[in-house]
Amino acid sequence: MSKSIIIIGGGASGLMASVIAARNGASVTILETNEKPGKKLLASGSGRCNFTNVVQEKQYYRGSDPNYAMGILAQFSMADTLQFFSKLGIYSKNRNGWMYPNSDQASAVLDVLLMEAAYRKVKIKTRETVREISCSGQKWMIKTDTWAYSADAVIITCGSPASNIDGATDSGRIFARQLGIGMLPMLPALTGLRGKSSMYSRWAGIRVQGAATLFLNGRPVKTESGEIQLTDYGISGIPVFQLSRYAVRALEEGCTVLVELDFLPDFTEEQVSYHLEMREENCPYKRLPEQLIGLIPSRLIPIVSPKEADLREVIRNCKHYPVIIKGSSSLQQAQVCSGGILTAELDVHLQSLQHPGLYFAGEVVDIDGACGGYNLQWAWSSGAVAGLHAAKEAL
Ligand SMILES: Cc1cc2nc3c(=O)[nH]c(=O)nc-3n(C[C@H](O)[C@H](O)[C@H](O)COP(=O)(O)OP(=O)(O)OC[C@H]3O[C@@H](n4cnc5c(N)ncnc54)[C@H](O)[C@@H]3O)c2cc1C
Repeated sequence: MSKSIIIIGGGASGLMASVIAARNGASVTILETNEKPGKKLLASGSGRCNFTNVVQEKQYYRGSDPNYAMGILAQFSMADTLQFFSKLGIYSKNRNGWMYPNSDQASAVLDVLLMEAAYRKVKIKTRETVREISCSGQKWMIKTDTWAYSADAVIITCGSPASNIDGATDSGRIFARQLGIGMLPMLPALTGLRGKSSMYSRWAGIRVQGAATLFLNGRPVKTESGEIQLTDYGISGIPVFQLSRYAVRALEEGCTVLVELDFLPDFTEEQVSYHLEMREENCPYKRLPEQLIGLIPSRLIPIVSPKEADLREVIRNCKHYPVIIKGSSSLQQAQVCSGGILTAELDVHLQSLQHPGLYFAGEVVDIDGACGGYNLQWAWSSGAVAGLHAAKEAL
């Protein structure tokens, strides 16, 4: 008789787990709270689905133990992911290492997963919200609002509360409490950061190519470059997203958090000084703020060059503009969460050390990826490994 597996959550990791488990002989049922599976996947990459990245290094996976993520990726890698989707019909497009389906449609990735799941006889029960998980003897009991299911193994792939997409719940926390499994609180990651000043309405809407350096307790810890978005609450854009999980967790731990913006990352301070002096020599009729025209966006000029500021202060503001961070955008506005089920609670195949037959995969686990396809890669790798071992492990 085939092994029965219940998967809680029909998102990226749950669908991957279902296909791999079914291919390995299991009889699989997905319980999904929404009326359709894969809603977050459909929204990924602004609807284009940046589903992995050709550059795979430890630095792109964060959590209490990034080595754990690398161990899972070694079992189902980026190359395995590309091959898996290629065999399902997804021809991929490479944008500077960020991989998308050639059609630029997240729906293509979801469609092929659902078609393969259907072919493998995976049952997907929608509008089924799991409330309770328990174990009695060798069997797992899963209670929803309307039904009680039993299974030989369970894979929890219920994701995180990040985003305002339906189904973004904190069920992971509830299940961890029911099962006595340790987890780190889930906090926003890949999100904008809120600054302390009241002046941000003046720069709201400006986009600038720059660099952002995160300082924790006065120490620089990480720099990211790219298009920085200046907003009415502070700062956003991909470089800020990349720093945000560190900033948010540090604030939680009581650190002082500051982001220094460099609006002219291609110039040293000496070069900026030289440029401004040359401009003064060539156009002596211009005031200092006017010397900045053409160097930075015009709306930034009064901000880096306030009245009475001298040359040194203007250069400092161009290269080291301080934003004291007091918080982040809400969970509803974040793309992913950091935190989740502690990897120390799991064996090398994502199985609970306390509860054999119980597996976790995807964002509910304490691994979060950088922007660039790493969160979906984690969902694919962890889903595949959990699906394979849930199906194969002896009862
Ligand atoms: C706007 C946006 C854009 C993104 N873009 C990218 C990108 O381009 N590249 C990238 O790598 N990552 C991206 N991400 C992150 C990525 O989508 C997620 O990390 C990934 O989908 C997580 O997969 P998962 O399977 O863990 O969770 P999900 O895909 O969220 O799936 C969890 C599922 O569980 C269901 N569920 C929750 N609780 C219950 C319950 N109690 N009972 C039953 N079902 C339940 C939910 O409805 C959901 O369908 C993006 C995220 C967002 C919000």
